[in-house]
Amino acid sequence: MSALLTTSAYLLRSVAVGERDLILTLLTESRGKISAIARGGQASKRRFAGALEPLQRIELELTHAERDIATLNAARIERPYPALSLRLERLDVAGRALRWARHVLPPRVPEPELWASLERLLRDLENAEDDGSAELFVFGLELLEIVGVAMTFDKCGVCGRPRPEGRSAHVDVARGGIVCTSCGGARRTLDAETLDALVHVTRGPALGVGLELIEAALSVHTSYEEGGTAR
Ligand SMILES: [Zn+2]
Repeated sequence: MSALLTTSAYLLRSVAVGERDLILTLLTESRGKISAIARGGQASKRRFAGALEPLQRIELELTHAERDIATLNAARIERPYPALSLRLERLDVAGRALRWARHVLPPRVPEPELWASLERLLRDLENAEDDGSAELFVFGLELLEIVGVAMTFDKCGVCGRPRPEGRSAHVDVARGGIVCTSCGGARRTLDAETLDALVHVTRGPALGVGLELIEAALSVHTSYEEGGTAR
């Protein structure tokens, strides 16, 4: 009899296998990103009681958690986020955050900082007054830092020399954000206004540029493809 593991989790992806089962990708609090099989998960709505949906915190009982694919014995909803579904943009933002996490996290490495970061994002999104771009941008920067490829807009990502406020700079997502001319610069330049807005997470069009840079950084450093193999 394999030991039973109980942990909180978010569903990152669910893929049907055969006629009955589901293979789940989960972000768990205690084991990081794992895969698990939910036997009978396609048919048995009652067994997992609506828990196998994204964008809610669930509590899982797993066996064989040490294997490549654990077995899901039970799941229940632990913390729904009903306010998220009131606005499509927030659902989209939360979905993007989970997709980034799925692509960038290595399997079976507990990530307590990322877990805290994701929970903060979902709580903040519930209360956000706009589409939540600022919250998603902050989460994206935290995610890049946690996986060891931090991106900054107030100092050179290579040598650390500060960028004076009010100055434009070269930007290279593969080398940590802005890159000063002594470090070789980069082909792309961002104006001072945009860079200052990114440093201060000022709501407005600059955040669209910021989100694009985060997705570019994710795709350079991981298998993430924007708009790719979704969900
Ligand atoms: Zn430099």
